[in-house]
Amino acid sequence: MSSEGEASSSRFTLEGIDDVEDFPWWNEGEGSSMSWERYSYLYDIMQMGNQAFRENRLDQAIELYSRANNIKPSDIIILSNRCAAYLRISHFLKNRPPSASEYRPLSGLDPTTHAGLALKDADKVMNLQSNSVTPYILKANALILLEKYEVARDVIWSGLHVDPRSCPLLNLERSTAKTFSRRSHVNPQRTDDYDCTVCLKLLYEPITTPCGHSFCRSCLFQTMDRGNRCPLCRTVLFISPRTCSISVTLKNIIQRNFPEEYAERRLENDSLTNPGVDLLPLFVMDVILPCQKFQLNIFEPRYRLMVRRIMEGNRRMGMVIIDSSTGSIADYACEVEITDCEPLPDGRFFLEVESRRRCCIIRNWEQDGYRIAEVEWVQDIYPKEGTAERNDLMEMTNKAATFAREWMKAAQEAAQGDRVRLAELFKAEGLMPSTQDPERFSFWLATLTNRRPSERLDLLRLRNTKERINRGLVYMKAEEQGCRLQ
Ligand SMILES: [Zn+2]
Ligand SMILES: [Zn+2]
Repeated sequence: MSSEGEASSSRFTLEGIDDVEDFPWWNEGEGSSMSWERYSYLYDIMQMGNQAFRENRLDQAIELYSRANNIKPSDIIILSNRCAAYLRISHFLKNRPPSASEYRPLSGLDPTTHAGLALKDADKVMNLQSNSVTPYILKANALILLEKYEVARDVIWSGLHVDPRSCPLLNLERSTAKTFSRRSHVNPQRTDDYDCTVCLKLLYEPITTPCGHSFCRSCLFQTMDRGNRCPLCRTVLFISPRTCSISVTLKNIIQRNFPEEYAERRLENDSLTNPGVDLLPLFVMDVILPCQKFQLNIFEPRYRLMVRRIMEGNRRMGMVIIDSSTGSIADYACEVEITDCEPLPDGRFFLEVESRRRCCIIRNWEQDGYRIAEVEWVQDIYPKEGTAERNDLMEMTNKAATFAREWMKAAQEAAQGDRVRLAELFKAEGLMPSTQDPERFSFWLATLTNRRPSERLDLLRLRNTKERINRGLVYMKAEEQGCRLQ
């Protein structure tokens, strides 16, 4: 990541390195350690060095400062000025566009070496004079060029203890703070690395396959409905929704870095698993009446997907038939609840369902291969409570119940030796609803005989309970007692 590092440190400008300090002329104190001639020579070199620095001939400035340093080692001004020259070269090289070096290569010069030399000089100055901000400024600049931002921040803070109003230090503090917050809360780029290759959206509930590829859980199993291979590399996979868990670490990384997009994906997913109170995914097969209990084998890929979604939601779907008279989905359907769902190793589902209530389909549309319907829940119209008509209905229901019990008893006797038939009769008996709910009872009554789909559809459309009970009784009387239950 060196290119990224350079990009970030090149955002910094050098602070407090605009000029160098002039070397003081001879005074009595200095004279004691050095002859006048020698000091005068040193002074001239420093003058030339500063001149070179100000004219941006930095190589020459460094050479002159180094000569001065040989004459008078451990001098704060000489070391500080040379440090400033190293810093400037390093900064210049660091910000030099790559095309410039192609045009005029600078052999042997690299920004890191120069920043390292600057740091050495800054440390020497610090040892000589730690009660001034100058060494802190030099050292902080050098550390930033070396991309040691954390240490640089410590140096800046120490320097601010010496002079809390130092402009260069305050500027360095601000610029490193920005980089710091960027670095510690840095979000990875939102590249398509985080996308599912099936739906091309941000991975939601990612699963990583044994071949190392990650997909949204729902996407993976949707493609596996059509074959047990990895959607990307075609490796045969031996995983199933039951045994496969979500990659928690990957999920956390994605969720933490792209929280809004992930929340959107969750909403999207929830709307598929919980379509809403008046929306019902449809299993197009047959007319089902309320108050039935039966088993279903789900093997078509589109319905496997639907069942997986239903099982994450309220476990309910609508069952409907294609109306043979119109060739399209019938206008009435029945809601069934999945009471037991057994996923089979090959991806099929074995379901036990119970039918609950009927609905009228207002409109329906396709979604991922199966149909969703907007429905209106329908109930029979009862006569008002306390009226003669209502009492009539309750009496009729009770009479029908008595008849049904006798009918059942006779049917069970006739079916002795026929285990399958007996089991059906016992099951129907167990489902018999209370006569306090005439509508539900009327539907149950109608399930006792084997009706044609068009007859069952008519029973769903009816909103008159008496009429439905009547039809049920007629069917039962017409059918011979040995007749098979559906
Ligand atoms: Zn996906
Ligand atoms: Zn793969």
